[in-house]
Amino acid sequence: MRSGKGAGDATTATPRLTRSVTGVFCFRDMCFLCGEMVAGYSDVQKVLSGGEFDKKFKDVILERGWDEWALDVQERMDSVSDLFAADAEYHKNC
Ligand SMILES: [Zn+2]
Repeated sequence: MRSGKGAGDATTATPRLTRSVTGVFCFRDMCFLCGEMVAGYSDVQKVLSGGEFDKKFKDVILERGWDEWALDVQERMDSVSDLFAADAEYHKNC
């Protein structure tokens, strides 16, 4: 529900706090691909753009035919609006 009219035009960064209840997964600390911590790894890549990256990834998941790994990753992606907004990171080798 939106409140009133004309009041809020300074919405630069509306934090979309959808419920992040998917276990204890933390996008900022963990590789969203394998679920392991990113701390201590030198080859860590941040997700640098929104929608497109997500789309590309959903294709990968489809191609894999929804195996266990794909379902895990999909679940993580579904728990946020997009990976970029979630500050997602991953190991380059993953
Ligand atoms: Zn990883």
